Amino acid sequence: MDSSCCKDSSSPFDCIIFDLDDTLYSSKTGIGLALKRNIDEFLVEKCGFHESRASNLRVELFKTYGSSLAGLRALGYDIDADDYHSYVHGRLPYDLIKPDSQLRNLLLTIKQRKIIFTNSDRIHAMKALDRLGIRDCFEQIICFETMNPNLSKSTRPDEFPVVLKPSLEAMNIALDVAKVDPRRTLFLDDSVRNVAAGKAVGLRTVLVGKASKTKEADYALEAVTNLMQVIPEIWFIGDDKRIGRTRNEMDSAFATTAVGA
Ligand SMILES: [Mg+2]
Repeated sequence: MDSSCCKDSSSPFDCIIFDLDDTLYSSKTGIGLALKRNIDEFLVEKCGFHESRASNLRVELFKTYGSSLAGLRALGYDIDADDYHSYVHGRLPYDLIKPDSQLRNLLLTIKQRKIIFTNSDRIHAMKALDRLGIRDCFEQIICFETMNPNLSKSTRPDEFPVVLKPSLEAMNIALDVAKVDPRRTLFLDDSVRNVAAGKAVGLRTVLVGKASKTKEADYALEAVTNLMQVIPEIWFIGDDKRIGRTRNEMDSAFATTAVGA
């Protein structure tokens, strides 16, 4: 990729890092519910918890450890990450994620590097991006496997704690792998805690799915497709002129965004 476009640009951003789930698509179409149901089933079927406890336990593990998998392993359950992901993600109704041409058009107008940073496993990330029709818009996917390269080699479940957002370790791995300057990188996530972690490592932060900012968010977007209206400086080049794309591209991106607003 030609990086000169970014160096000469007056845009304050060289790179945009996007969370995936509930940032680039809404899980409210049924994917989120199905995920919760699958995790509850995993807790019952694979770990032997009583059905009546599964939902509360899932919520507790998420709050304390960042995910059920992280929590179960920290508590000493020898859960293989691949088994867990194929059970809870592999059985999701992916057809509920629809192609999003409005989002695709918007992403194509952003000439900076674009990277996915998700706690989900790689297979889930690729399936969701394929369903949305935007996988080719990203140069890199930083995911569960990137943050946890040694998990499958560990002999005890608590030997390598699972690393996920919002831990600073996860944030630093992402910065390292992406090779970005956090001060010139925009980080979008729907989680208030993840946004706070992003701020703590020096990223410029965007809280997605909320009308108002939190303390650690530099911007808030109700939907990712509002990006152009809320953070137009992404597209600034030179003397505040938006170049690097045709007038038609900009017009159609604005038009499709307006329809969806
Ligand atoms: Mg998310």
